Amino acid sequence: MTRAILTLNSGSSSLKLGLFDEDLNALAMGHVDRIGRREAAMKLTGSDGAPLPLPETAPEAFATNAAALKTALAAFHADFERLEIVAVGHRVVHGGIDHAAPERVTPALIKDLARLAPFAPLHQPHNLAGIRAAIDAFPGVPQIVCYDTAFHRGHPFVSDVYALPRAYYDKGVRRYGFHGLSYDYINGELARREPGLHAGRVVVAHLGSGASICALKGGKSIASSLGFSALDGLPMGTRSGELDPGVVLYLMDQEGMSAADISDLLYKKSGLLGLSGISNDMRTLEASDHPHAAQAIAYFAFRIKREIGAMAAALGGLDGVVFCGGIGENSARLRAEVCADMGWLGIALDPQANAQDAPEIGSDRVRVLVIPTNEEIVIARAARQVLSQ
Ligand code: ADP
Repeated sequence: MTRAILTLNSGSSSLKLGLFDEDLNALAMGHVDRIGRREAAMKLTGSDGAPLPLPETAPEAFATNAAALKTALAAFHADFERLEIVAVGHRVVHGGIDHAAPERVTPALIKDLARLAPFAPLHQPHNLAGIRAAIDAFPGVPQIVCYDTAFHRGHPFVSDVYALPRAYYDKGVRRYGFHGLSYDYINGELARREPGLHAGRVVVAHLGSGASICALKGGKSIASSLGFSALDGLPMGTRSGELDPGVVLYLMDQEGMSAADISDLLYKKSGLLGLSGISNDMRTLEASDHPHAAQAIAYFAFRIKREIGAMAAALGGLDGVVFCGGIGENSARLRAEVCADMGWLGIALDPQANAQDAPEIGSDRVRVLVIPTNEEIVIARAARQVLSQ
């Protein structure tokens, strides 16, 4: 039997599974998205990245996160029969102040992480549900978690704090930053492929359904556009991004909205979806000729551009920009809009390289790279490391 590590990335409406051998070669990947919607779908790929045939599934197979997880695990059934799963690695969105390094799941840790659910109400409960389901499916197998907040825990004070009375900082109202597994992967790739750039000042734009920007100085995160919750910074598929807190007060006082109403508005109905009124999906917006679709894309690009400028100031200059995530890796149009008129900062694109999603697309002083991110392998690496301790 081949020994293998399973990774689980259990989000609010998507689920990603990875199977790796002990040398961290990918054996298979599974991806379910749009969980709970009629258009929910699963994709399976083999070790060569080629699609695998899908098993027959019942209509309710993706109705809830728990059902989707069961369906996806069942799809790997044949693999599980020939593999010995030696560890299950999990992405957990929030480690709070106390948890940064990857660690083994214990009943006490689950309780501790559940206490952080109010900090990430749309993500943490799903992460924990994934852990519980994996404990049931693989009893006795070590479960190992790694945190999306961990990569940013070394932020300097000014990047970690809000200007509220100090008591709130002490209670954990801080800027945590997220997408840490993705930034960890990109940082590792820079160290491996571009050591000179890795030692310098780099802005990484992780642009997927969730989106954020991270400033890397000498391989360390010094600032992130995401803060206390997964709502800050850039607009996202359905999330508002940065908002004047006065808007929230107005919605409560004048529109009589409850915290639950506002949460629903800001997490699920805003961002590209809210602005366009058409879709949260970049491909759909790019294909639309409705002016509101173009405006939503323009706002997204403008906020990314602004954030790159802000991060360049935080870094004291800029040597490189990296695009990653579904949009960053695939949308030549978005990258072109972001980088337009950025010559003042030393950023310009080679249009042909950009159109081909080439690994290197810049044509000026600042290097501009497209690096496909891989959160799954970061989880698998962490699981292997903890297992060996
Ligand atoms: P998640 O955060 O759920 O992992 P992804 O990183 O998969 O999300 O990114 C999803 C986004 O990437 C969607 O908005 C999708 O439309 C966009 N995307 C994927 N492929 C393309 C493409 N070829 N052109 C433009 N956008 C794309």
